[in-house]
Amino acid sequence: MTDEYPIFALSEEHRAVRAAVRALCDDKVAPYAAEADRLAEFPQASFDALRAADFHAPHVPEEYGGAGADALATVIVIEEVARACASSSLVPAVNKLGSLPLILAGSADLKQRYLPRLAAGEGFSYCLSEPEAGSDAAAMRTKATRDGDAWVLTGVKRWITNAGVSEFNTVFAVTDPAAGGQRISAFVVEKADEGVSFGAPEKKLGIKGSPTREVYLDEVRIPADRMIGDEGTGFATAMRTLDHTRVTIAAQAVGIAQGALDYALGYVQERQQFGRSIAEFQGLQFLLADMGMRVEAARQLTYAAAGRSERGDEDLTFFGAAAKCFASDVAMQVTTDAVQALGGYGYTSDYPVERMMRDAKITQIYEGTNQVQRIVAAKQLLAGVQSQL
Ligand SMILES: Cc1cc2nc3c(=O)[nH]c(=O)nc-3n(C[C@H](O)[C@H](O)[C@H](O)COP(=O)(O)OP(=O)(O)OC[C@H]3O[C@@H](n4cnc5c(N)ncnc54)[C@H](O)[C@@H]3O)c2cc1C
Repeated sequence: MTDEYPIFALSEEHRAVRAAVRALCDDKVAPYAAEADRLAEFPQASFDALRAADFHAPHVPEEYGGAGADALATVIVIEEVARACASSSLVPAVNKLGSLPLILAGSADLKQRYLPRLAAGEGFSYCLSEPEAGSDAAAMRTKATRDGDAWVLTGVKRWITNAGVSEFNTVFAVTDPAAGGQRISAFVVEKADEGVSFGAPEKKLGIKGSPTREVYLDEVRIPADRMIGDEGTGFATAMRTLDHTRVTIAAQAVGIAQGALDYALGYVQERQQFGRSIAEFQGLQFLLADMGMRVEAARQLTYAAAGRSERGDEDLTFFGAAAKCFASDVAMQVTTDAVQALGGYGYTSDYPVERMMRDAKITQIYEGTNQVQRIVAAKQLLAGVQSQL
C-alpha cells in the first residue's frame, strides 16, 4: 500500500487547492450569494476575492502569468465556488470557455496578446449561440466578410454569459457559406471594438448574479490576425472546446448539489418534530443517503472526465458529455430533495436550498442541453469508443 493510490485519490496538491478555495468561498463568496440572487446583480465582491486569489481564471498557463491549474484543479475550483454561489462559479467557468478556443487553436502572437490580460482579471466570453441557432449551432447566421487586411462581422449572438462584463469574446461566424463543414471561423472580438453592443440582461430563473445578454455585432471591423486558427476551422474548435468545458459544467453541478446536501444535513439535525430530531426518521435518512450517493457518483465521473481533459484522451467527448449530463441531472434531483428535507422552509428564500434548486436547472441546459449530451454520448458508444482507464 502506498500513501497515494494513484487513480482514485486526489494528490496532496489537489486537496490543498480544495481547502484554499473552500476557505476563501466560505469567507468571501458565500456571504454575497443570496444578495446577488435577490438583486440579480453581478457579485463584484465575490469576483474581487476570486481575482485576488487567482481563482478567476485558474486554467491560464503560468507562461502567460496565470495560475497554471491543470484540468482537475480547475474543476475543483469551479466545484467549490459553485458550492457557495453558482453565479460566481460562472467566472472561472466562462473564462475557461471563452479563452479555450484561443489556447487550443490560436497563434502564439494572439495568445501572448490576450492571455496575460485574462490572467490579470479581464474576462473572456464565448459567443456561439444565436436566436435561431441553439442546439443546431452550426446553423448560425453571423457572418464575417474579408475586406483587405480586416474582417467585418455582423450578426446577433444570444444568451452570452458575462457579456458586457468580459473585455474579450470568442465569436464564431460564417466566413464562407459554401464551404460545408468549413463554413465557420473563430475570432477574438473586444468589448471596445466599434460596432459591439449588448442587450438588456435576461430575466432568469436562476444564476441571477451571472449576467446573460445578447451581443450585437454591427459591421465590427477587426484586424485579420484576430482570427483564431485557420479559416474554416471555427466549428471544429468550438466543439473541441465544449468537450473540455462540459467537464467544468459537471463540476459546477456537483458543487451546487454538494452545497444543498451540506445544508440539508445540518438542518435535519436541528429541526425537531414528534419530539425528536427529524434526522432520526428513516424515511429522511434514505433520502439523504440517496443524495449522498448521487453526489459522489457525479463527482467521481467528473474527476475521471477531468483527467481525460488534461491528457486529451480519445474518449474525452464521451466523458465530457456523460459527466455534464449525469452531474446536472444529479444536481437537479439533489437540490429538489434538499428542498423536500427542509419542508415548507425549504420552499422560501429565507433558506439557500430554494436558490440552489433554481440555479441547478441551468446546468441541464447550457453548453448543450442534456438531450444533446445524450445524442453525443450515444454517438460515441455506437462508434465503438471505449473507456480508457
Ligand atoms: C443562462 C444561459 C447562459 C448561456 N450562456 C451561453 C454562452 O455563454 N455562450 C453561448 O454560446 N451560449 C450560451 N447559452 C446558450 C445555450 O447553450 C443554449 O440555450 C442551448 O444550447 C440550447 O439552445 P436553445 O436555447 O436554442 O434551445 P433549442 O435548441 O431550441 O432546444 C429546445 C428543446 O429542444 C431539444 N432539442 C433540440 N434539438 C434536439 C434534438 N436533435 N434531439 C432531441 N432534442 C432536441 C432541446 O434539448 C430542448 O429541450 C446560454 C443559455 C442560457 C439559458
